[in-house]
Parts: sequence; C-alpha cells; structure tokens
Amino acid sequence: MHPLGPSGIPLIPCPECQDEVVEFKSRKNKGKNFFKCVKFTESLGENKCPFFRWIEEYKQEVAKKVKKDLKVAGLDPSEGENEAVRQMKHRSPIYDEDKTAIKLEKYELKMDKLIVLVQLLVVLCLIMNVIALLGVVVLICK
Ligand SMILES: [Zn+2]
Repeated sequence: MHPLGPSGIPLIPCPECQDEVVEFKSRKNKGKNFFKCVKFTESLGENKCPFFRWIEEYKQEVAKKVKKDLKVAGLDPSEGENEAVRQMKHRSPIYDEDKTAIKLEKYELKMDKLIVLVQLLVVLCLIMNVIALLGVVVLICK
C-alpha cells in the first residue's frame, strides 16, 4: 500500500528515480491537481528528475504501478486497476459501509443475548406455573 495524497490518490515512488512523489494544486490551471517527483525542476540539471504528471495521467501511472506490485506479489495483474481504484476510494463511503457492518454485527450479538434471556424467562414462568398448579392440586386433595 502507498500513502495517500491530499486528494486520496496514492503517492507511488517516482517511476523515473524511485524518490518521493508529491501532490500539488496548480494556481494557474484552475486548481488542477498535479504530481511531481521531489527532484523535479523545470530546468533539468544533474540529479534532477523529469517526472511530472497532471492528475489524469498520474492516475494511469498509479494503475500501472499497482499492476506491477500485484505481479511481483504473484497476484493477478488484471485486478490492478480495481485495486488502484480501491486504494483511491480508501476514504470514501465504501469505508463507512464497513463500519456499519461491524455495528450491525454487534447489534446482532446483543439480540442473540436478548433472545436467550427471554427464553430463560419463559422457562422460569413455566416452572412457576407448574409449582402453582401443584399447590392447587395439593389444596384440593386435602
Ligand atoms: Zn523522480
């Protein structure tokens, strides 16, 4: 798994030099997000890196990288895109759905306990009734 950038897109290691990739918002370009290597500079010198992608292109880089990761891990690379989307949606409603599922499970557990309690009460009532009936029978016989 890769750390997530501010927009929820995974920050993969730079495909060019394996250094860190950082997410930015362009001021000139209507707040469009872009991603670039920490070593990136407009004028390339020594030890500089050319990696710069607008968000749409970068998403494809992430999908490629996740595919590669899955291949290395011996998993089906065709799942790569799904996996990338899953990572990007990490903070979306899907995550909350999981939490609701856990809450429901706890609720069901409580219900189970309640049902056992009710059953116990019913048995107790039956026993009391039998005792009362025996008392009546004893009274009549006298
Ligand atoms: Zn780089």
